[in-house]
Amino acid sequence: MRAKNIQERLEALLNTSFEKTTKNGVIPFVEHRIFTNRSIKMNRIEAVGFDMDYTLAQYNVEALDLLTMHRVLDILVRDHKYPECIRDIELHPQFAIRGLVLDTQCGNVLKMDKFRYVSLAYHGLQPLDSSERSKLYNSSQINFHSGRYKSIDTLFALLETYLLAAIIELLENGMGQTQDYPSLYQNIRNAIDLCHRDGSLKHEIKKNPQLYIQDDPLLIPALHRFKDAGKKLFVVTNSEPDYTEFVLDYLFRHASPFFKGWRDCFEIVGCAAVKPLFFKAGTQLETLETGKCLFFSGGNIDFLEDNLDVSGDHVLYIGDHIYGDILKSKRTSHWRTCIIVPELLFQIRAEKEVAPLVDQLYRNENLRKEISMRLNWRRSMVIDLQQFKLAEADELDSDLLAKMDGRIKEINRELERDHEIFSATLHESKQLRRRISENFNCFWGRLFKTGDQLSLLAEQIRDYACIYTAAVSNFNFYDPHSYFVSIANPMPHEGTLFPVEDLDFDTTMEMPEPKDQGLTPSPPTP
Ligand SMILES: [Mg+2]
Repeated sequence: MRAKNIQERLEALLNTSFEKTTKNGVIPFVEHRIFTNRSIKMNRIEAVGFDMDYTLAQYNVEALDLLTMHRVLDILVRDHKYPECIRDIELHPQFAIRGLVLDTQCGNVLKMDKFRYVSLAYHGLQPLDSSERSKLYNSSQINFHSGRYKSIDTLFALLETYLLAAIIELLENGMGQTQDYPSLYQNIRNAIDLCHRDGSLKHEIKKNPQLYIQDDPLLIPALHRFKDAGKKLFVVTNSEPDYTEFVLDYLFRHASPFFKGWRDCFEIVGCAAVKPLFFKAGTQLETLETGKCLFFSGGNIDFLEDNLDVSGDHVLYIGDHIYGDILKSKRTSHWRTCIIVPELLFQIRAEKEVAPLVDQLYRNENLRKEISMRLNWRRSMVIDLQQFKLAEADELDSDLLAKMDGRIKEINRELERDHEIFSATLHESKQLRRRISENFNCFWGRLFKTGDQLSLLAEQIRDYACIYTAAVSNFNFYDPHSYFVSIANPMPHEGTLFPVEDLDFDTTMEMPEPKDQGLTPSPPTP
């Protein structure tokens, strides 16, 4: 068994390959790349910190949600007297994605674009039609500070999204029993919290970790590259001490020859951190171990930075929770941030497949816009000529009047032709959008797009995280002293002044802090 594992890890290292080599270095395959929103000079980073769940440890989401779902449904029947039939609900792993927003008052699940425009909404598992959606969400300002809306910031929160919709679908759409949506949401949320608190889930994960925790053979080498480059490494997780120890033991069970174990890799491991509170006042500190690795529970960022002897923008923190890991650490501590987005792998592959269709759509839409402008111009011309004729008919000779009539007829024929082309391009764009969407999530389409706009999730990743990538192990493909340079983000008018490529210069300009969007974040990871 051990020999097989050593061989697999060695093969993974030997098979490390790059898309191309340039005079300045190597370019990783797009799936392994680290993408930059805000430039980071890694040689200025003295300490690299990690969240644990869904960051160092990638879970098998479907297996974990299935395990949790059965327990949650049991609790809902037993403690809240929901009908027995909800136990038969089957998991639909596609339904929930990160970046959705729950309207707990109406029991709806929403997908928004970066302008908070709700472009898709489901009640139960049925889509709301556009007029209802528009009436509820797009005809007046939504008050995100009311607590009514909950954003789905972490993969742990996918299950509550699905269960809210699936229970409404079964009891309301299926059996005609109208639900009290705020209570239903709260009952589901409490049941999930109970499963995490009572240790039953963790007990199952500990019994069969290979079912729930994914093996990434390049994780330990990536950590070693940081360590070898002189970076101090630490962990801050919301998980409890015993579970933290278990998961780290599991991840480092084959750490040889790089490390003897996780205590050999991390200088500090903070658990039960209660992020985002950890980044402010924190909680009661308890030191669990001292020595080579300081292992503590609770505490706050000041305690961590004092012991680390590094602070502010010399720290890079890598996590998966947009609010708890990224936004708060960036705002209160000025740490540089990296968000882990495992969904990138699927999205990148799907984007590659639809690239020819996207190109076709782009050209088709440009044509449609040109024709639309021509149509408007021709319509105005006909109206102008007709008004002129009406107002000045007595002053014009018959030749000129005939000439004007001829021109009006001619423009009307051109208008008819343009109308046909316009309708055809409109139809083709609709078809292309449908074909593109089919390659992505069948409920929500592309993760990072809503229509032609960036989705709320894409905008949050772009605003809050300095860099983002699919897995921690992707740092294995980069020099630990790399300079991650952000690409230019031009204003629309700038593209007309000079080629966009010319804006791709090195920059260390600081970006302004994003404004608080007022959405109630999903609870911190356990
Ligand atoms: Mg996490």
